[in-house]
Amino acid sequence: MPEPLQAPKGTRDVLPPESDRWQSLVARFATACGAAGYGLIQSPVFEDAAVFHRVGESTDVVRKEMYVFEDRAGRKLALRPEGTAGVVRAYVQHRPPTPWKVWYAAPNFRYEAPQAGRYRQHHQLGIEVLGTDDPDLDVEVISIASDLYRGIGLTKYTLLLNSLGDDECRPAYNQSLTDFLLPRRDDLCDEHKERAAENPMRVLDCKKKACRDATREAPRITDHLCEACKAHFERVQEGLSALEIDFVIEPRLARGLDYYTRTTFEFQHHEIEASQSAIGGGGRYDKLAAELGGSPTPGIGFGSGIERILLAADAEGVFATPEARVDVFVIDVVGGAHARDITAELRRAGIKADRAFDGRSMKSQMKQADKTGARLAIIVGEDEAAAGEVTIRDLSSSEQRRVSRTDLLEELRP
Ligand SMILES: [Zn+2]
Ligand SMILES: [Zn+2]
Repeated sequence: MPEPLQAPKGTRDVLPPESDRWQSLVARFATACGAAGYGLIQSPVFEDAAVFHRVGESTDVVRKEMYVFEDRAGRKLALRPEGTAGVVRAYVQHRPPTPWKVWYAAPNFRYEAPQAGRYRQHHQLGIEVLGTDDPDLDVEVISIASDLYRGIGLTKYTLLLNSLGDDECRPAYNQSLTDFLLPRRDDLCDEHKERAAENPMRVLDCKKKACRDATREAPRITDHLCEACKAHFERVQEGLSALEIDFVIEPRLARGLDYYTRTTFEFQHHEIEASQSAIGGGGRYDKLAAELGGSPTPGIGFGSGIERILLAADAEGVFATPEARVDVFVIDVVGGAHARDITAELRRAGIKADRAFDGRSMKSQMKQADKTGARLAIIVGEDEAAAGEVTIRDLSSSEQRRVSRTDLLEELRP
């Protein structure tokens, strides 16, 4: 016999009943996005590798963790390591009317050391909007994320907020930060000793103690914003306060990707391990469309890992796996044709129904009914079949009554 094969290292199967929770999370997100005028985007799982190289050349995600391969025609492709670049590529390609508001639920791929909660294929919910730099949109995007977390019962997290400035004010800030860092280079962590000048803001975002300590007195971007960036940032804060969304300003927050401008944010959960405490985040990327060859178009988005959200839900003991997959379980011990017909009739009427197969005993079918979490069993035995009736049994109270088969649907309607 051949050896059974396994899922690739760093990946996992999501099976029922765990996947019921996934489905319900994605459904909530889809409903929330639909209610705010967002449409679904399905972009390819792989893109021309240049899409990601152009926007993240100096990031670890692109340099070290991307799955890059050649197809049979020699095209250099990459599995999507994050959600935004492909969506912006699609925007540039199709030039839809703006504001263009889209959402997605899709996998990302990163070749990184597998550990709990980190997978080589992980799944993300996200939204992206292109075509306006109105700060009220930043508030809308953040509030959709925040409402999703609140809606499933999460409370133990903090929203960190920052502005990274723009071409007007960031170069001068970067210079003063570099001037601050260079004389202190020996105090930084090993990685940043070498690379401090490449992207000085990333040193501030470094989680290593050496970098933290050495940058305690470093200049803060929030003190160096130009008038336009300052006004934008203030309007965002005002909006969040108006919507009663708590936040903390964190001038160190830069996030991993190069393309952010102005508003940047991250939701950090308090009860999951620090290296993966970010349950979601995002920001503005007003230069990204131009970097991908489009006309300059402001944009903003956020992404949130499904695995991380569920880890946080487990840590807080909220958003449990739904207990029942069906409402009604049909038990037929006279051959199965009744079960076949009744389940079809109920499903067509919008009632979730399931049944047993293979002509099992009454006892075995009852057991199966209990396992599904169904509230009601519809039982068809010899007596019922002969009388043209069925028994409706409440599976929690064990109360039951016989009704005419033709009245069944009417009887089940609330
Ligand atoms: Zn560092
Ligand atoms: Zn500015």
